[in-house]
Amino acid sequence: MKMKVSVVVPMFNEATGIVGFLDGQLMPVLNKLSYDVEVILVDDGSVDKTVEKVVKKYGSNEKIKVVALTRNFGKEIALTAGLTYATGDAVIMIDADGQHPVEIIPQMIKKWEEGAYIVTAVRGENTTRHKMGSRIYYRVMRICGNKDIVVGAMDYRLLDRSVVDEFNKMPEHNRLARGLVDWLGYPQEYVKVHTKNRVDGKPTYSHKKLVTLTIDGLASSSRTPLVLFGYIGVAITVVSLILGVFILIQQYILGDPLKLDWSGAVAMSVFVSFLVGLVLVSQAITALYISQIHTEAKGRPLYVVDKRKSIGLKNDKK
Ligand code: UDP
Ligand code: MG
Repeated sequence: MKMKVSVVVPMFNEATGIVGFLDGQLMPVLNKLSYDVEVILVDDGSVDKTVEKVVKKYGSNEKIKVVALTRNFGKEIALTAGLTYATGDAVIMIDADGQHPVEIIPQMIKKWEEGAYIVTAVRGENTTRHKMGSRIYYRVMRICGNKDIVVGAMDYRLLDRSVVDEFNKMPEHNRLARGLVDWLGYPQEYVKVHTKNRVDGKPTYSHKKLVTLTIDGLASSSRTPLVLFGYIGVAITVVSLILGVFILIQQYILGDPLKLDWSGAVAMSVFVSFLVGLVLVSQAITALYISQIHTEAKGRPLYVVDKRKSIGLKNDKK
């Protein structure tokens, strides 16, 4: 039997550009491959008729399947849904907005044929809007102990079937698909790309969403923030203890030989506000972890598929 390559495309309000992307970019490349192909379009609760448009245009195209989520669950969950429904021997995840250059797909597949489990596109020259943001993101992730993260690694990736099967076993809600893929530990191959500007429409990730994503990604993959604040807490306690002893001895026992003439109230209020600030920050961090535990503990399904709007789904798993 012929091997199959699946392509998972998350879509959120991509009505203006999606047909151009599929007809003009993705399909021409896929049609040249010597594999069976399947495109899984995951609609992440678009409100601009993306699904209607796609179903109308490709409803009878056997290669194209649509997974319609009932509302906006976020790109990471949309990718997860797509990976669950993908049936290919290799699965490629790619953005719908044309920023991930389709030209490298044959290169990715070649590496897979040569035995790669995961082929990750790595941003060479960075020209996109979030370049500062993503650079900071990777630096922070690295500082916090996620050493294996390659700067510029994108979530434009090819995954072998064995990787997809393992990925599909992971139940957590707060997730960054690429973080989970990295965690699985399979060796990765890299392909350098130059990202492009969006073909059409606006970026659907606001800066606020990106910040949330970074914070969640951190809290779900690293204990460093917690440990860090533990260390800061210890340091401040030790320093204030030493200072306190110093003030006690020099001012009150020896009678201020250094002529500093510190008022006790000033020194105390500085310490107190310092400590109060520290407590507040560390509490906020704890709250972050608790909120994640809360989400996981509820054990809800990751997403809900609107079966009536979806088309071509055979393996109705979840
Ligand atoms: N996307 C999604 N759900 C969302 C936000 C984005 O499925 O809540 C999709 C979007 O349609 C696109 C991809 O994720 O295919 C990347 O989104 P975008 O281009 O807005 O992000 P950026 O390029 O800034 O990373
Ligand atoms: Mg984009």
